[in-house]
Amino acid sequence: MRVGVFGGTFDPIHVGHLVAAERAREQLRLDKVMFMPAGRPWLKAGTHVTEARHRARMVDLAIRGNRCFEASPMELEREGPTYTVDTLEEVAGRIKAELYLVVGGDAVSDLDRWRRPRRILQLATVAVVARPGTAGRMPPSLEGVGRCAAVECPPIGVSATDVRRRVRSGRTVRYMVPDAVNEYIVANGLYADD
Ligand code: ATP
Repeated sequence: MRVGVFGGTFDPIHVGHLVAAERAREQLRLDKVMFMPAGRPWLKAGTHVTEARHRARMVDLAIRGNRCFEASPMELEREGPTYTVDTLEEVAGRIKAELYLVVGGDAVSDLDRWRRPRRILQLATVAVVARPGTAGRMPPSLEGVGRCAAVECPPIGVSATDVRRRVRSGRTVRYMVPDAVNEYIVANGLYADD
């Protein structure tokens, strides 16, 4: 079995995430992609992050209907800051599968700042999805370490920051997020006064 692990803050999940995950699934022939909303993303320490239950619910709503997509509460249930290496250890301990860590081009160039990057590269192949405005390359200190796969993806210039800003200023985010996510944002008054 080939499994993709797709971590993120997902504040909120948007079409950039969904297209990236679907292309990774197709090109790497993944049996499933596990979406893992981060409990307390350590790289975003000090910045405001929406309550986990809202972010997780939006992930559920967004992936509903795709049999190969699954949401996992693993990172939400773990105490303390969220580290990808702990997540991969946990997944590897629970299921027998070839693991692929799906990351955008911005995230991969930061990999040397993550906790135990070399262990991450032992546990999973890093699947890099091109993202507009990012080089999408491994940091020099990790070049040649572990396995890396490039995922071709049409450039989608949508970010969660952009979605939050637009909502706050009363502009539309329709089609930048799935309809159900858009409705959830409105119904719960998310991002209105960030
Ligand atoms: P923010 O704007 O709040 O920093 P974000 O849009 O980057 O958020 P995250 O939840 O931080 O979203 O991203 C999770 C993962 O998805 C990261 O690996 C990131 O690189 C990737 N990703 C996010 N948006 C895109 C996109 N438009 N295209 C490709 N990859 C993306």
